[in-house]
Amino acid sequence: MSIVMPIACAQCRIGPYARLRAALYACQRCGAQRRVAEFELASGERLTVQEGRLCIQRDRAVPGIFTVEPTHGVQAPYLRATLHRALLHELGPLTQPEQVEIALRLREATLTDRGPWSLTGAELGTLVESLRWRRGRAQTAVDPHVDRAHENITKAIASAYEDALRALEEGKGAGQ
Ligand SMILES: [Zn+2]
Repeated sequence: MSIVMPIACAQCRIGPYARLRAALYACQRCGAQRRVAEFELASGERLTVQEGRLCIQRDRAVPGIFTVEPTHGVQAPYLRATLHRALLHELGPLTQPEQVEIALRLREATLTDRGPWSLTGAELGTLVESLRWRRGRAQTAVDPHVDRAHENITKAIASAYEDALRALEEGKGAGQ
């Protein structure tokens, strides 16, 4: 299975690149520009554009990267809104500067509308904590159909995070 991941800006490390003109891309957050030739690609990797963002496509699975596939159109906006709330809330779940950077990058670059999303263990952990925090707070009634879609993606993220933790444990074992 091939993996497609939006490329985060080399400068601000958060924004996605959008095409400016032939072979030239600009970060949608800070405006930093980068030419296609400046992206270093390994064998089996190529550049592609998805939902207007410059992405890297890899032919095979990458260790430490876990795929989550949204099954409903409301799921990406739900995750992005969850991260947005978590970022705004001073006493929210994002206590470390690295988590804030991850949450910003997920919201602005990684979590495309259609997916699938290729996520690291740290990204999944940030999502799991933000989702748990939001669930604990939000008591507004939602359409049951939409609520089920939210619940399904929350479960898919949690299950991918468990895979990531297990892979980390196995990796540690193999290294000893
Ligand atoms: Zn940038």
